[in-house]
Amino acid sequence: MTNTSVAPPTPAVPRQQRTGIGTDRVADLISQLLVELGEDPQRDGLVETPKRVAAWWNDFLSPGNAPVATRFTESQLAGQLVVVGDMSVWSLCEHHMIPMNLQVAVGYLAEGEVVGLSKFGRVAQHFAGRLQVQERYTREVAEHLARVIGSEDIAVAVRGLHLCMSMRGVRMEKARTTTLHSGGHFATDPVLSQQFLLLAANQSNAA
Ligand SMILES: [Zn+2]
Repeated sequence: MTNTSVAPPTPAVPRQQRTGIGTDRVADLISQLLVELGEDPQRDGLVETPKRVAAWWNDFLSPGNAPVATRFTESQLAGQLVVVGDMSVWSLCEHHMIPMNLQVAVGYLAEGEVVGLSKFGRVAQHFAGRLQVQERYTREVAEHLARVIGSEDIAVAVRGLHLCMSMRGVRMEKARTTTLHSGGHFATDPVLSQQFLLLAANQSNAA
């Protein structure tokens, strides 16, 4: 095989600058993959599959910048612990390209203002929409929230179900991976840290 027909590699563009993927090209590649897997991409059930898969990738990768948080003044509040939990997002393990479900809980200290709650869900979703590992995801969510809140006092706990562990490899369906990022007072104040973990765990148990 000569390499004359091989297109030069596309230069890597940072994710945030992309405006979407080349869905036609991705659909074409999925079609080729089906052939390599011994399938006929023209048969009834598969004829629209490459397009659907390409559209899904486009949705999943959700280009754009991470949402900024809306903050509301609440001058009487001083150091109140706020925990937003049970945010469930789907991501893709970058080692196997197999889904992982992440249950996310975030804690912060409300100090003179509160953060619009729905923004936590959007931030959790934003960093899941890419090829990920749970450990990096946990740090990215925490660092982003610390920036928008303007405080290091952030805790993020993530409980992950990794299908790469459940449906392949060791096939342990009940295995869960927990990661915890504690910043600021959450790292130095054991009582605060305990309160956060208790509230985050209680939310999961109530479900
Ligand atoms: Zn994996």
